[in-house]
Amino acid sequence: MSGPVLVLHTGGTIGMARSPDGYRPMPGFGAVLRRQLAGVSGLPAFDLVELPQPIDSANLQPAQWTTIAAELVARWDDYRGFVVLHGTDTMAWTASALSFMLRGADRPVILTGAQVPLVEPRSDALTNLQTALLLAGSLRCGEVGIFFGRRLLRGNRSTKSSSIAFDAFSSPNAPALAEVGIEVGIDAGQLLPAGARDFARPVFDPRAVAVLTVHPGLSARQVDALTDDPALRGLVLCSYGAGNLPDAEPGLIDALARAVARGVVVVNRTQCAHGPVVQGAYATGAALARIGVVPAADMTLESAFAKLHVLLATHADPARVRTLFATALCGEMS
Ligand code: ASP
Repeated sequence: MSGPVLVLHTGGTIGMARSPDGYRPMPGFGAVLRRQLAGVSGLPAFDLVELPQPIDSANLQPAQWTTIAAELVARWDDYRGFVVLHGTDTMAWTASALSFMLRGADRPVILTGAQVPLVEPRSDALTNLQTALLLAGSLRCGEVGIFFGRRLLRGNRSTKSSSIAFDAFSSPNAPALAEVGIEVGIDAGQLLPAGARDFARPVFDPRAVAVLTVHPGLSARQVDALTDDPALRGLVLCSYGAGNLPDAEPGLIDALARAVARGVVVVNRTQCAHGPVVQGAYATGAALARIGVVPAADMTLESAFAKLHVLLATHADPARVRTLFATALCGEMS
């Protein structure tokens, strides 16, 4: 495979500058970036495309996942790999969504960004981008990854775990795909091989999926208030430990059962960063299995949410969505 790497700028701190209200996307970022990289030798050839309105990724909507994927797919055959510059706040959500939309990718897609803007002193932007470029230009795999700090992680295994560290992302249930120091140590055996393209172009309804964190005092009324929305078709329940919720709370299981009965796909993801849901390890979790709640194994919250969104946008039948949700599609669960 030959050709240059495409760098797609979507926004984020990497391309921001100070304003009276704090950091905002800066005009003319592309020109600044091109100048900064012009003198660096040894990088693969690349083209830079900027979305018309780079955003603070805190403003990301699911529809933007379709925009980003479409920008990549439209140019797929012209590039050997892709780097997506993205804000860190929702980078793991976007990387997860892209992994489910670009299944069977035959070239790498690497998301990166920065904790400190490119135009500020001590920025981590250039080191992150340069390594992401080198990885996107050299890896032969079907990974949608996040390169940040010193590690390449599988995107749908990643989570932003520090708001201040240069190593902002971690992958609590899966090993790093590469550790970068003086040498670039790639764990080739972990990389998803290049596949046969099975790309999806979902039309997302932003109200289709919600997240509910179980907490002491959670009531049936609170569950009803969330699940009564007719647009809601999927719910990520963030449960305690191995997948438990308070079954002594009157009506809580019934409220969830009503949602499942009306076709809402409810999935059970633990609040713990590390380890899987084992629904049924405790009686407090077994009730969820009885009413048809699907365990999310050891998926990240971001991955469970994005997977549910993509599946609901591409399949009408809740039973089919439940089956596919429980199936590993692109390395998102152990
Ligand atoms: N708020 C920024 C964003 O997500 C943070 C960052 O990029 O680090 O766009």
